[in-house]
Amino acid sequence: MTRIAFIGLGNMGGGMAANQARAGHTVRAFDLSAAAVERAVAAGCQAAASVSEAVADAEVVITMLPAGPHVRSVYGDQILKSAPKSALLIDCSTIDVESARVVAAQAAEAGFRFADAPVSGGVMAAEAGSLAFMVGCAAVDFPIIEAALDPMSRVTIHAGDHGAGQAAKICNNMLLGVSMLGTCEAFVLADKLGLAADRFFEIASKSSGQCWSVTSYCPVPGVGPQTPADRHYEGGFATAMMLKDLKLSQEAAAKAGASTPMGAQAEALYALFDGNGFGGKDFSAIIELLRGKLAQLT
Ligand code: NAD
Repeated sequence: MTRIAFIGLGNMGGGMAANQARAGHTVRAFDLSAAAVERAVAAGCQAAASVSEAVADAEVVITMLPAGPHVRSVYGDQILKSAPKSALLIDCSTIDVESARVVAAQAAEAGFRFADAPVSGGVMAAEAGSLAFMVGCAAVDFPIIEAALDPMSRVTIHAGDHGAGQAAKICNNMLLGVSMLGTCEAFVLADKLGLAADRFFEIASKSSGQCWSVTSYCPVPGVGPQTPADRHYEGGFATAMMLKDLKLSQEAAAKAGASTPMGAQAEALYALFDGNGFGGKDFSAIIELLRGKLAQLT
């Protein structure tokens, strides 16, 4: 049994902390939202009154916070000052690569082991304990980090040194945003050309256009396996979340001097869709923007 401090009990962190408690670990949970802490307690965690109290005698500290500034401030102002030096620090939030590297350097300077370990998979995977973790850490620390993540994980992959987990996350999601837009455009064109969506699905699934956005997450209702398209684009991966990750990818590309024109176009299109009030819809709903039928989504 391990003493775990869990900071950030929102849509994702709530389910993840519950899985650590379910695995028999002692989970001291903190969130700025009292309601989130109450839900964690109902799921088997112990309430902490502050970050400092949660981490005071922790063996593992896990954070699941909204963005880079939250992670910088929670680690810089609280965790690195209050946790025992022996604690393993794991940030699972999706944040910018630079913040991940800054926090890792601060943690190393203070004598801690730290990992950036963002996840692929949404709220349902967080609840089911079937997230995919991509980890940036010293190679020597990876086995212990993998073990600590196990109750929340379907697969855990070492991406490289500090920041590599965040790099993997934003590169993967930029690819996903671009491939979803390409998939949507192809289905819209197929429709205009009189080609039935289910026929195109079968052919593209077995041809060189095959990709996850076609075969596993088809944006057209009634075609292929069940997806958010079959639920009026509710649930799934929210447009606002995709936009956040695309923004991170473009900021990183600008800083690194990488040319990502398709990623930039995807960011612009998702910003347009989000700006029309559809940030809460699944990201595959952008097919209605391309069809010129946004009214169908309201
Ligand atoms: P959320 O907004 O539901 O949860 C974040 C929680 O952090 C909130 O409960 C908030 O009160 C808490 N918080 C903020 N500042 C805090 C502080 N200083 N101290 C303690 N608690 C604090 O967000 P989420 O959907 O759970 O996402 C969390 C992270 O996971 C984000 O970085 C997101 O990009 C990433 N992510 C989300 C999804 C998804 O589908 N929701 C999927 C993959 C990755």
